[in-house]
Amino acid sequence: MCGIFGYVGSSEKGPQLVQEGLQRLEYRGYDSWGVGALAGGSINVYKKTGIVFREALPLPVANRAVGHTRWATHGAVTDANAHPHMASDNSFILCHNGIVENADALKQKLQKYAFVSQTDTEVIVHLVEEYAKKVSLQEAVRRAFKELAGRNTVIVLSRSGDVYAVRNGSPLVVGTNKRGEYFFSSDSLSLGSHAENILVVENGQMVVCSNDALALSVVATGKKATQKWEAYRAPSTVADKGSYPHYMIKEIHDSAAAVLEVLKDKTNFAPLVSAIKKARTVYCIGSGTAGVAAQQIAFYLRSIAGVRAVHLIGGEASEYADLIGKSDLCIAPSQSGETADVLEVLEKAQKRGAKIASYVNMYGSMMTRMSDFPFMANAGPEICVMSTKIFTSQIAWGYMLAHRVAGTASRGIRDIRALVTGMYRYLADTDSQKQIQEFAKEAAQMPHLFLMAKGQNAAIIREGMVKIIEGSYVHAHAIPSGDLKHYAITLMEKGTPVIALVSDDDVRTDVENAVHEVTARGARVVTIGAEDDALLRVPRVGGAAGAVLNVLPLQLLAYHMAVARGNNVDKPRNIAKSVTVK
Ligand code: GLU
Repeated sequence: MCGIFGYVGSSEKGPQLVQEGLQRLEYRGYDSWGVGALAGGSINVYKKTGIVFREALPLPVANRAVGHTRWATHGAVTDANAHPHMASDNSFILCHNGIVENADALKQKLQKYAFVSQTDTEVIVHLVEEYAKKVSLQEAVRRAFKELAGRNTVIVLSRSGDVYAVRNGSPLVVGTNKRGEYFFSSDSLSLGSHAENILVVENGQMVVCSNDALALSVVATGKKATQKWEAYRAPSTVADKGSYPHYMIKEIHDSAAAVLEVLKDKTNFAPLVSAIKKARTVYCIGSGTAGVAAQQIAFYLRSIAGVRAVHLIGGEASEYADLIGKSDLCIAPSQSGETADVLEVLEKAQKRGAKIASYVNMYGSMMTRMSDFPFMANAGPEICVMSTKIFTSQIAWGYMLAHRVAGTASRGIRDIRALVTGMYRYLADTDSQKQIQEFAKEAAQMPHLFLMAKGQNAAIIREGMVKIIEGSYVHAHAIPSGDLKHYAITLMEKGTPVIALVSDDDVRTDVENAVHEVTARGARVVTIGAEDDALLRVPRVGGAAGAVLNVLPLQLLAYHMAVARGNNVDKPRNIAKSVTVK
């Protein structure tokens, strides 16, 4: 994870511009941060634990600066472990996104250096120093980078004013404008109004910014690479929480509009539909919440279109990667399009001849660029680290896709329209909102919560579980109701809280039976559904599209539980939004 931001230009406000850029990248990691700037021939660094502060930086004015916001992988969250890391002779600083998988082995060879941090990043710094004894700093960065195992991206600011940035895995973009300024960043969104054109640096490429000119080369050979600049599409929606107290609740309320975007999408589905029909197996792949979305997309493809679709969790899919071949298709829903473990599976699958489709919310991502069938969510920026509206958008897209494959697109469109209306109605219903809020206050005090459902709602309760765990830190457990009696029923006793999601579908009786079974053992069951007897009522929506709406009460529950527990709602502890490390 981690966010990298850099500035080279004529403005003396370099450190401030980097500080502001880091604030926009904070979703990528927020345990510590730092900025380094070149002024008067020497590099000054300020770094600290905690979130990027809003006050003026104690750094001199400078027209060259680089910074970092960290999500620690190696080494505790301390000021010393925060980036940038300085060379022993103060000749350069370096920020890093990724994990150096051979750090221990490399460190053995660098024992003569006094390590001042516990990070894998400092190994890169000393490796560069070692090479720089014999070759130029630029060449030393290139050679050192070639030795790193794993997915890594670094940015270096030298005492002579050069900036070197190298990418392999973790994302990197460069933005520029008429004033000849260059901005380096981990995502294009953070460039805001500064950039007019952007260059997405590809894996294995190195950017050199020297004497205010930019050069791009291939790391492996050092040879020049073609610079493919594109006009920058600044985000259309302003990332502003308006009158909402947190981004999470605002983004839950944005969900209906995000689902509507699925219908507005003019991308031609026909090539993907035909590829799905031809595929032996469709693998839907994602991690975390996107992994749950992958599960629901696979469910829709199986149940609506009769497609042999399975879902895989990115970080757990390595043994499948060798089975995926040229007759298969992978579908990856992703907020950032940069999720490292998913990319790794997709890259292997692509090498083995499989086709790739993606549904991504971030413009210019690696996943989009490698896809044979790239689709964009157009759901607007999602700032809360916990995903809500993007999840909703992903599964609504899956629903539409399944209907297109089944040849029932008009039915899909009708259901999604009804869904959007239902979502707006539900979110505007203050009584429903109050009910959830009241229940959340109670639930926030419970040691654990169980969620139960089946069929179209099986993935939805898993997402409810993910949100409750992420936001409130209360232990939650999603039980497929069909599996209840095989294990989890041992935990049911007087007062055990169970949330049951019941839809008017062909598995309804099964879920109701499971409700009876836990009630018989004293569990306190709260049902969510469209029926009159549901304790938490939701509007009725036709078909399995109703499952999309059912996630709203669970997201709202997780939100209000997080608030009731006084947690940092938009930035829960220990997680980050764009998981670019494995
Ligand atoms: N491995 C580096 C550290 O722990 C960078 C972490 C990251 O990119 O998330 O400091």
